[in-house]
Amino acid sequence: MTIINHNEHLIQYKDFVFKNAALSEDLFSFYSSLFSLQYDSTQILKSAITDTTLVVDTTHYPMIHPQNMQFTEEVIAHIKKLFKEIATRIIQFQPGYSFDILLSNLDTRQELYKEIITALLLNDSAFEAIARENNIDTDELVFLAINVYKPLFVALRSAVLDDKTDFPEHFDAFCPFCGFIPDMAKIVESKNNKRFLHCGLCECEWEFKRVKCVACGNENAETLGYYSWELDEKYRFDYCNKCNTYIKTIRIPKQHDAAQFDLTVENIVTTFIDASALKMGYSRQ
Ligand SMILES: [Zn+2]
Ligand SMILES: [Zn+2]
Repeated sequence: MTIINHNEHLIQYKDFVFKNAALSEDLFSFYSSLFSLQYDSTQILKSAITDTTLVVDTTHYPMIHPQNMQFTEEVIAHIKKLFKEIATRIIQFQPGYSFDILLSNLDTRQELYKEIITALLLNDSAFEAIARENNIDTDELVFLAINVYKPLFVALRSAVLDDKTDFPEHFDAFCPFCGFIPDMAKIVESKNNKRFLHCGLCECEWEFKRVKCVACGNENAETLGYYSWELDEKYRFDYCNKCNTYIKTIRIPKQHDAAQFDLTVENIVTTFIDASALKMGYSRQ
């Protein structure tokens, strides 16, 4: 497995999405076409990556150190193409947005594509500065950057780790492979109710303590809790009253095969859970 075709999973959720008003029809089509593009790109990039040691060092966590990343011309050309293609798709859906300055700077400034992913992974102020210089909102650039780099990072993870979810001595909430933050969690009943976090970039999954805030590390059970969705209790959000953040979680019942659940898609089709968490005053990590 390792490279999941998210579009196949998304299509299975079509009735669920519209019944629960999780996405508009336009947004559903947008994700469907984005996932197809990313799936094809992941295959292309996986065969283009001949030497993962240029990017990945498996002797420490995270295994990718953004400053040390080196990409071949073939990979860089594909990343630039994805910037253009994904920006075009976003503009079709959101005609008010413009990525003209960014796209022109990516053509002329050789290092910009690397500065963007480095700043995203290091989560530093350089990222906001890049957004400002290119006249786009930080959130727009985050969305674009994650989706442009996702195929490359999924291809790298798949080439280096396959489906590994066991990372000895890694107890942190950052991704052991790429260092990015999780977008969702799952609790697997058939695996002794262990909790796993899912990376928002490379889609790696790793075990994380059950009673612990993903954002601030708080372990005081009195200030941690969750709310389940009344229509389907496998969906919930876990909150922390110390830092006021939440993470969406799917609790996979014993009778289900955990591999059937694609957390990238589960995250997108459960926007109504984000809406209720935000309404209660929690923010996403
Ligand atoms: Zn990752
Ligand atoms: Zn917290």
